Amino acid sequence: MTIAGQIEALIQRLEGVAICDDCITDRLNLSVRSQANVVTRGLGGAGGYAREKQPCGLCSSVKVSTSHHR
Ligand SMILES: [Zn+2]
Repeated sequence: MTIAGQIEALIQRLEGVAICDDCITDRLNLSVRSQANVVTRGLGGAGGYAREKQPCGLCSSVKVSTSHHR
């Protein structure tokens, strides 16, 4: 599976809970955060994805995080 596919699957599994790029990087063992950022940046506003400054459901920091709502 591509990195983009893994990131989308991870966000969808969280069922509406937002996740920040740092936690995505950590969870998927990506080598650099920019790998997550380039994907999440493209997701915002499309296909039920919301990308905004909100508390991350995993690390609780308020920063730009991505969530998915059906
Ligand atoms: Zn986080």
